[in-house]
Amino acid sequence: MKKKTMMIHGGQTTDEFTGAVSTPIYQTSTYQQDGIGNLRQGYEYSRTKNPTRSALESLIADLEHGTDGFAFASGMAAVSAAVMLLNAGDHIVVGSDVYGGTYRVFTKVFDRIGVKSTFVDTTDEEAVKAAITEDTKMLYIETPTNPLLNVTDIERMSKVAKEHGLITVVDNTFMTPYFQNPLDLGADIVLHSATKYIGGHSDVVAGLLVTKNEKIAEDLGFIQNSVGGVLGPQDSFLLVRGIKTLALRMEQTEKTTLEIVDYLNNNPQVTAVFHPSQLSDKQLAVQKRQASGFGGMISFDVGSKEKAELLVKSLHYFTLAESLGAVESLISVPSQMTHASIPRERRLELGITDGLVRISVGIEDSEDLLEDLKQGFEAIH
Ligand SMILES: *Cc1c(COP(=O)(O)O)cnc(C)c1O
Repeated sequence: MKKKTMMIHGGQTTDEFTGAVSTPIYQTSTYQQDGIGNLRQGYEYSRTKNPTRSALESLIADLEHGTDGFAFASGMAAVSAAVMLLNAGDHIVVGSDVYGGTYRVFTKVFDRIGVKSTFVDTTDEEAVKAAITEDTKMLYIETPTNPLLNVTDIERMSKVAKEHGLITVVDNTFMTPYFQNPLDLGADIVLHSATKYIGGHSDVVAGLLVTKNEKIAEDLGFIQNSVGGVLGPQDSFLLVRGIKTLALRMEQTEKTTLEIVDYLNNNPQVTAVFHPSQLSDKQLAVQKRQASGFGGMISFDVGSKEKAELLVKSLHYFTLAESLGAVESLISVPSQMTHASIPRERRLELGITDGLVRISVGIEDSEDLLEDLKQGFEAIH
């Protein structure tokens, strides 16, 4: 089955009971038993299993070429469930510019309960190898990264991880299963903040994990049910619905994004443009090998904090907001928003300057978006 077809027909999203074509919202916490322990369809209690959530989980498992999917109440709950595969005393090697909330949970929560992390540039194989100790049990990668869109070679790093007996987790939020399938490249677990492209409409907070490793699947199922940060039926329905148009949304976003990248490259008011299509030859080759697209996230430098502030204020179609991956275009200034908690010195080291602006390109008409950017740049001239 081709990807676009799978987004409509993957998993088990029709209702076996009534034949309902769209996944019904089984808004129930529990299920009648036909005798003690005699369950009708394996459903006992909705933390453990709910038919609407099961539909989503089987769909995302198919889309990521895995066997088992798990839906959580947020991307961070999914990150946390993956880390709970480890024990106190274990160590994780993590990408140095992962999502801020991921950095926070590793350094402020898991560190405190005995799971330590070391942050390294995962585009650098030697740096990753040097960070691995005898306690290391997991390699945690995000690619492309936020907001500078650096690309890590998933296949290569999964191989390094395997050689050292580590579980490889890849946060695939930016690429989505439409452009990239980390399990095919050797990763053990693929993770999504489904709040972003998978939901796609700025109306759900959710997280997903997928694996094809039988032992990891069993353990994640146990953790999901034991810790309990599960996604509710209504939100599961919204994700199944969002996925139906994921392919179309990603194609439209990608098309418009490349037009905007081209415009920004030719704009003398912009000092740098960050997008996976603009990477150095080496990283570009990796991106082309492991993904079938570049995605809809662009960062660019307008030179100063004042200009960045004025630009975001001058735009009409780019909504000033955190988050990304929605039908509407969103804009943010990382140094003052998503990455404000990182000390300025460290931010500058990472390349997150005060004039850096990040946009998540939506599916509006590209002519309108370009017109809007043009008038915005006139305003800051
Ligand atoms: C948003 C995000 C997360 C966290 O997901 P939530 O749904 O906000 O909890 C994790 N990783 C990436 C790359 C993200 O963009």
